[in-house]
Amino acid sequence: MSTYNLLNNNNIGIEIYSFIEKLFPICRSITGNGTRKTLELIKQHIPIEINDIPSNTKVFDWNVPKEWNIIDAYVKNSKGEKIIDFKISNLHILQYSISIHKKISLDELKNHLYTLEEYPNWIPYKTSYYQENWGFCMSYKQFQTLEDDEYEVFIDSTLENGSLTYGELFFKGEIEDEILFSTYICHPSMCNDNLSGVSLLTFLAKTLIDKKTKYSYRFLFIPETIGAISWLAKNENNVHKMKYGVVATCVGDSGQLTYKKTKQGNTLIDKIVEKILVDSRDSYEIVDFFPTGSDERQFSSPGFNIPVGSLVRTLYGKFPEYHTSADNMDFINSKSLQDSFTKYNSIIHVLENNVIYKNQNPKCEPNLGKRKLYDLIGANKELPSNSNSIFWLLNQSDGNTSLLEIATKSNISFIDIKNMADILVSHDLLTIVN
Ligand code: ZN
Repeated sequence: MSTYNLLNNNNIGIEIYSFIEKLFPICRSITGNGTRKTLELIKQHIPIEINDIPSNTKVFDWNVPKEWNIIDAYVKNSKGEKIIDFKISNLHILQYSISIHKKISLDELKNHLYTLEEYPNWIPYKTSYYQENWGFCMSYKQFQTLEDDEYEVFIDSTLENGSLTYGELFFKGEIEDEILFSTYICHPSMCNDNLSGVSLLTFLAKTLIDKKTKYSYRFLFIPETIGAISWLAKNENNVHKMKYGVVATCVGDSGQLTYKKTKQGNTLIDKIVEKILVDSRDSYEIVDFFPTGSDERQFSSPGFNIPVGSLVRTLYGKFPEYHTSADNMDFINSKSLQDSFTKYNSIIHVLENNVIYKNQNPKCEPNLGKRKLYDLIGANKELPSNSNSIFWLLNQSDGNTSLLEIATKSNISFIDIKNMADILVSHDLLTIVN
């Protein structure tokens, strides 16, 4: 794994940001052409398989919904002026709104308008997936200017049998044990939640193309909730191979990183992410699992119990821009995306390099001078943690203790201790046993 080169790729944040910019205008939903178009654009970067599950397919306790597509929508006043226009922002439409074309009074219109009084300049994002309805979202500021009038409401949409579409990419490793990276593609024009997760995982998957890995990796680009439920229903017989997972969402804002632990709380993936956050020396937060949030709750439901955590920056719902038009290209930045990417990439790096070593000279300390290793422990002041790394590695490599455990116990960064382990292996002082 050439992870170190990638960790120094200073352009990846800009590439992730640019891809978000490209995806931003598309009107996505849990089904429909916007979601397909998004997957097609992802496919230009990575060879995902695009799969369809027909509407009405039973998936556990749910049915795959009808497919929703929208062509246009607006509200006009009696002067014929468009006061709400879907073509200006796709957040203006209540998602899954059915077709309508009629003239109504202000009072009737108000029953179908959604606003956010607390942030009067922002358009809220609203959905009505499982209840047939129609509606428009607008800023509270504009809402207050609405006058008594006759309004023409027009929604040109279809809600009919079709399919739920998702993308999947599998990298076969040496072993069958799979690591899941999952994200959701169902949100329209909003950046942190969740084009940031979609774009980050696209570029993360790209790093695995043509790489030999120990673990197998599965990337899912699915509509949230119903997509995870559908995927699990379709793949129930193979899910036992999935050992750990991470849901990527809200990875582009300027806040510090937050790790939401797996339901189990103390699994390998939890320990890896915690170690990466400690090693970064940046501030971060770790929160215990809670059964709301994103698709980690489907993967870790009792019937599956897969330990799936989520590495985010500011947790969804904790930033006011969440689910509004203010979650736009200005709310995210390439530096944060780059930093999030580095942490996700490090997860793969640690997983791939977390081996168990055995000391080949286990009876007392080996003579380092004789092996010309003495320089490494003191003479070179530029490498202050090296002497520590050597002694920790030689002392702990009993054939049972993993490199991650040694790095965590010693408080030496995983990258530093791995580098020293490579040197000791090259001098036949350590050998990999597992
Ligand atoms: Zn959301």
